[in-house]
Amino acid sequence: MGSLGLGFSRLTAKRFLAATLLGALGFVINCYPLPLFSNVELVLGNATILLCASRLGTRHTLWCAFLTLSGLALTWGQTYVYLTYGLEALVVCQLRRRGWYLLYADFFYWCLLGMPLTALLILQFFDLPHDYQFFTVIKQGFNGLLYTAVASLISLLLPNGWFRPIRQQPNVLRTFREKLVHGVLVMLSLVFMLSMLVASRNMVATQQQLVATNLVERSAHLTHELRRHFEVHQRGVVLASRWFAQGVPKDHWQAKLEQLHQQYPGFLTMLVTDASGTITQASPGDLIRRVPPFSVAERAYFKVAMTERRPYVSELLQGKGFGSDPIVALSAPILGADGEPQGIVEGSLDLTQIGGHEEQTHWGDVNTVLVDARGRVVFASRALGLTPLTHFDYQSVREVKPNQLALLNLHSTNVSVGEYFYHRNDLDNGWRLYVLLPYRPLAERLEAYYLIGIGLLVLGMLVSMMLARHISRYLTAPLESLVRHLAVRQESEDPLGRLPRLPRGSAREIKTLYEELEANRIALREYQDSLEALVATRTAQLEAANRKLAQLAHRDGLTGAYNRRYFDQHFEVARQHCVRSGGQLALALIDIDHFKAVNDTHGHLVGDDCLKSLVDLIQGHFSRKLDLLARYGGEEFVLLLPQCAPDKVIRRLESLRSLVEATPMSESADGEPLYITISIGVMVDHADFSQHQPDWVMAADAELYRAKQGGRNQVRVAGAIPQQPLDAPQAG
Ligand code: GH3
Ligand code: MG
Ligand code: MG
Repeated sequence: MGSLGLGFSRLTAKRFLAATLLGALGFVINCYPLPLFSNVELVLGNATILLCASRLGTRHTLWCAFLTLSGLALTWGQTYVYLTYGLEALVVCQLRRRGWYLLYADFFYWCLLGMPLTALLILQFFDLPHDYQFFTVIKQGFNGLLYTAVASLISLLLPNGWFRPIRQQPNVLRTFREKLVHGVLVMLSLVFMLSMLVASRNMVATQQQLVATNLVERSAHLTHELRRHFEVHQRGVVLASRWFAQGVPKDHWQAKLEQLHQQYPGFLTMLVTDASGTITQASPGDLIRRVPPFSVAERAYFKVAMTERRPYVSELLQGKGFGSDPIVALSAPILGADGEPQGIVEGSLDLTQIGGHEEQTHWGDVNTVLVDARGRVVFASRALGLTPLTHFDYQSVREVKPNQLALLNLHSTNVSVGEYFYHRNDLDNGWRLYVLLPYRPLAERLEAYYLIGIGLLVLGMLVSMMLARHISRYLTAPLESLVRHLAVRQESEDPLGRLPRLPRGSAREIKTLYEELEANRIALREYQDSLEALVATRTAQLEAANRKLAQLAHRDGLTGAYNRRYFDQHFEVARQHCVRSGGQLALALIDIDHFKAVNDTHGHLVGDDCLKSLVDLIQGHFSRKLDLLARYGGEEFVLLLPQCAPDKVIRRLESLRSLVEATPMSESADGEPLYITISIGVMVDHADFSQHQPDWVMAADAELYRAKQGGRNQVRVAGAIPQQPLDAPQAG
């Protein structure tokens, strides 16, 4: 394998390249997270990390994770992603090495580590509004499962060869049941989560639409109310100034003012001044009695009304003379007959009255905030806890997903996550009216939705797991039982015994396989039986042939007597036997006299005939089991007679000689009986005379020679046995 100088093997370089490509793809995808709701976004690029973990080792997966997560860190501006998702890559990679499926490994990670860790991080390091915390944690787990399901599906569908050369993770051999359960779970979770996403987006869109409509309507209504409130009271002040200008006696003014005030309860106080700005009448009446008259000559509502001779609406003020409530002063000049202003009428508009009401809707309380042109709070619903006249401070979060609803955050103005949906209306005088609806109810609905969704998903997973196991039983259980049976049977005495019955409800394919196996088994059994029979026959034939061969090896082909080789082998056995029993041994050499002449005269076939007849005769004469006759060569035979008394042997040999002499061995061509004679040299002695066979043969041969010399047709004896004279007949 080649090396790239840096100590990198070519294979490592390829793996590194694959991890980098996957990481780059993840980086790009993660730069465009999928908006889900509010600032909650779905991450899909992490699927590449999981894909990497399914094929490559830890180092490459972590590298891929670093690249992919950098996209996320850039988009979100958060570095914690390296921690939670990096740990996910590590854990999943390790579990994958132990043969876990990605989906199970990731489920394990998020339940046991990922979600608790996210919760901890949020609580410790993030100033996230409470409304968001729980939902964010749930969403992380949900998101993790979603991209893992995507990665699992891709991994399942990926062509086998793609990662084979660089693969580091084990290629686990799985059972059909495991594969079925896993495949079903991947598809189920993917389809379920995607439909949940679509449905939740629709739900959020619908709800937000409702909120938006609600806000706009409420805002329009309140704006109208406010405008009307101002107009009515402004008209009230103008009417009062005209009334006072009509020359009504001054001692009626106080009563008239109080009467007017009753008609316009929106005013906190009302007052009338003279041309110098000193208060002459005030309502409610007890004010003027409690507070000594003072001058308002410096106030804008006096100055403008007096100098410009027109009705005037002040900015937001903090009441001074008769209290410190935030008010708006409405004033109008009292013009005399000559057109000169003689004083003013002023009403202090009570703003808490219009802003006070909060409305209950199914969304929670509708709150309002009125802000003046200088950005100070004029009034605010009590629940918001804002102090009038303070600067209205909030963080506006432009919410674009999914339908451009605006959110603002009042309580933690450095967090860009909203607490209220709002709608702002600008009034003619530069004031702004905010209508606010709390975000919490929608968050709660989403939380409940996702919790129920995840609960249903887990339930669905359990049910489909059971279902898949159940279905796989039709295939795997009978297969497993068959395989187990076949394995056990291999070891048993009868490897071709009957197969076990198939479980009920087995699949048709299994039934076919079973029938095929059973047919094969029967055919095999028949074949085995026929083979056994054939082997038995062949063995018997072989044994017979062997026997024949042994016989052929030991016997002389013409006469059927033992051959010389057999005699050589057998001699020592017979001698030892005699030694043990302390007996005698006799070895006789028998030679046909003038046999050449027989051949010459009558032909070889007659000669052969004589040889056969002679053997039959000798064997008939010496018929003990121990006696052994062998053809020693040509017309010469050797006769071994163990365990016999010497005199008896000699007598029996003598009787043989005379029997041969008297017995016709064949017949001549013209039908005449043919007679032969034999000469015998015999060596009779104790078996331990000599352990060398030639000694015995030589001794006997010497006697045979003597017999021939002595005239043939006689028996001559050698050995330690006392010689008895034999009446040898005279030859020829
Ligand atoms: P003697 O009395 O001295 O033994 O004389 P002989 O002729 O028997 O002796 P010789 O050794 O001269 O001859 C032996 C003969 O035996 C020669 C041969 O033709 C014959 N012979 C040897 N083996 C066979 C055989 O297998 N078949 C036949 N037909 N003749 C054989
Ligand atoms: Mg001879
Ligand atoms: Mg001879």
